[in-house]
Amino acid sequence: MALKKKARSRFIRYLGKQFRDDSTILQLYSRDMAELPSLTKILYKNIPDAVILPRNTEDIQKIYQIANENNVSITPRSGGTAGFGGAITYKKGIVVDCKGIESELYIDPLEQTVTASPSIIFSDLQRQLKQQGFSLCAFPSSYYSATIGGWIAHGGFGVGSSQYGGALDQIVNLEVVLPNGELKIYDKSEDLALFVGSHGTLGILTKISLKIKFDIPLKQWGCTFDSPRELEDGLAELSKINPYSIWFFNPSHISKFNDTFGYSLPYRYVVIISKEISFEEEESEFYTMFNQAIRKAGGQILDKRYITNIWDHRFKTFSMLKEYDDFLVSELILPIKTSNKYLQKLNVKYKNGIHFEGELISDTHYSLLLFLPLDEKISSIKRTFLYLRLFKYTIKGIKFGGYPYSTGMFFAGYYSKIYGKEQYHKYKEFKKQVDSKNISNPGKVISPRLNLFPLISMKAAIKILSRLIP
Ligand SMILES: Cc1cc2nc3c(=O)[nH]c(=O)nc-3n(C[C@H](O)[C@H](O)[C@H](O)COP(=O)(O)OP(=O)(O)OC[C@H]3O[C@@H](n4cnc5c(N)ncnc54)[C@H](O)[C@@H]3O)c2cc1C
Repeated sequence: MALKKKARSRFIRYLGKQFRDDSTILQLYSRDMAELPSLTKILYKNIPDAVILPRNTEDIQKIYQIANENNVSITPRSGGTAGFGGAITYKKGIVVDCKGIESELYIDPLEQTVTASPSIIFSDLQRQLKQQGFSLCAFPSSYYSATIGGWIAHGGFGVGSSQYGGALDQIVNLEVVLPNGELKIYDKSEDLALFVGSHGTLGILTKISLKIKFDIPLKQWGCTFDSPRELEDGLAELSKINPYSIWFFNPSHISKFNDTFGYSLPYRYVVIISKEISFEEEESEFYTMFNQAIRKAGGQILDKRYITNIWDHRFKTFSMLKEYDDFLVSELILPIKTSNKYLQKLNVKYKNGIHFEGELISDTHYSLLLFLPLDEKISSIKRTFLYLRLFKYTIKGIKFGGYPYSTGMFFAGYYSKIYGKEQYHKYKEFKKQVDSKNISNPGKVISPRLNLFPLISMKAAIKILSRLIP
């Protein structure tokens, strides 16, 4: 249903040109990074009624006030680079594009923190930090388009997480406009944890302080493994030597990487390890440990020539995939110690036609980004079928001790699998307190009831449908 006339004119009166509802704009905001099959769109209403571009906290407070009075849903959005449906509407309403939220950037060299607007893009923030000799500790590989606010709300990890942890570990404090309009600052770890992975269901982040570190140069080494079993052993050994980042690919992905960027990496499981190195002695000490770890796991060390400048391509995965006519994406987190069985299952099912790229996010787990490239435009029915199968295999990770990367809309209902039951209860209690009308990003995190069949949850519907797919 379109926005009621009274609500629309209230928004326009207070927000003027920042309020947009022309059809071209609405289409632009109807998807995120994952273009889902059109058949699945009967489950949700992804074309919003309007888009608002607030400039500051006062605008956001006003938006929540009018939204509460008129029962309008608010869906925050920043870079739109996540692929879990968190930034698209479940039942229409207003998308609040946070990219214009203003805030001064402040670097505190003594405390080693940076305070910035949630809408700052990682590469922009990192550039400014580097000018002062500092660096972010960890950041996503969507570095050139993702924002710090979106990353926290999505519950991200990334490059550097194996040493410095995920989004939660980076935060010093958060300023948030809660759905009831209150402006609050949180700095206690248990409060911050509520906002990480909450997809804007608990309010809109308006200012963020993050930990930073000295900008220490990174050096890379490479190695290969012949099988998922060896890869698992290799990751387990490498995680013990405290790397800054461990990034790896399967052979299908290596082929595409070679074709796109002109490398000649071997058709095996390739791992690129990165370490902060300040002194020569540190480098040789690390190389010795690396060498021992690879030998123990049965891998082979790659000659340095194979990986020259490879770090420059660290953030180009999607430009590589754009070469395909179409592709489907999903992502999950797996424990290192059981993951080879999962990878073998994936290989059998997809006959090596699936690509994956992983990143170690702690000394026990890694994130696995799955891509299913499609060489031609296929029918909507076939695309839906393939998407459901990919969904099924993402969820299958749970049997191996894993879980979906994030909830958003498509994996709503899996919050307790990701963060545990206790955290889920805390989340629900807090949500009740601050958003009794459930206007802030409904349909996310907690699985919504289907618009068409209110007795069935979206989680159950997608699960049942995906089970029907062989
Ligand atoms: C090539 C590529 C690589 C990627 N690599 C990584 C990676 O390494 N690690 C990783 O974690 N993710 C990765 N992602 C996923 C995604 O890019 C990141 O999670 C990213 O940080 C999301 O930020 P965004 O600004 O695009 O957020 P959006 O996609 O706009 O939003 C994400 C969620 O946050 C909510 N939100 C947005 N802004 C706010 C706000 N100000 N307040 C409250 N809620 C808000 C939205 O409602 C939505 O639910 C990758 C994606 C791509 C395309």
